[in-house]
Amino acid sequence: MLNTNFFPVTLPPRPSGHYAHLVILRETDSYALFQTDGELNTARVHAGVSSSALITRITMFKRKQTTPERLVGRELLRRYGLISADYASEGKDRKLDDRGVAIDKTGLPVCDYNVDFCKQCPDCISYGFAIGDAGSEKSKVYSDTAYSLSAFDASHEAFTLNAPYEDGTMSRKGEVTSRINEQDHVRPQTLFPAVITVRDLTTPLFLYVLSNVLRTRRYGAQTTRTGTITNHLLGIVLADGEIFRTCTSPSASTTS
Ligand SMILES: [Zn+2]
Repeated sequence: MLNTNFFPVTLPPRPSGHYAHLVILRETDSYALFQTDGELNTARVHAGVSSSALITRITMFKRKQTTPERLVGRELLRRYGLISADYASEGKDRKLDDRGVAIDKTGLPVCDYNVDFCKQCPDCISYGFAIGDAGSEKSKVYSDTAYSLSAFDASHEAFTLNAPYEDGTMSRKGEVTSRINEQDHVRPQTLFPAVITVRDLTTPLFLYVLSNVLRTRRYGAQTTRTGTITNHLLGIVLADGEIFRTCTSPSASTTS
């Protein structure tokens, strides 16, 4: 159903106004944790377009959304032999192919995330990279902070987490452990509407970004302990510009 004629056939050298928007609803499946320094991130924002009352919502910063999606994509690139699983090598161990791309023993490009980007794989081209003075590529995948649809009070639960000894108790030789933590978690089935904008990518690269969004389940710093999220794709909007702009006043016309 997707009109793939919309996308450029090759990557344009300069911005050329092909905006594909993924409208998604991120839904927590279990108790999730999006935090910085031990606290859930929150923001005071308007309740909606027609109500300017301020409410507190849980926020999911953009890097917390795109980094896990990017890593899921890179895992697949390694799984199917498109980039090497090796770390970057230095000095005389560093081998380059005739395009100047670092390669491993088998000739696969070495793309070491945030260390030595290969500058040519689907990940580097779509999400961009920066290598000090050696060049950079802007990301063609834009996202923004996502806010919980429901207010903070209804969207979170405080848990006390214990780290008991092996026998299940919290004390040893009469001494009680201090390994008790209070931690706010995002409740299951909390919804975070989000729009991911992809600019000027070809059809295969757009599908790569879309697949990463649909496959990613774990967000947050400690990926083995935080809860999972399902990304529901509500729609794809193809346009010559960004579809959402800041609403200047609650009474703004709905046709603006
Ligand atoms: Zn790369």
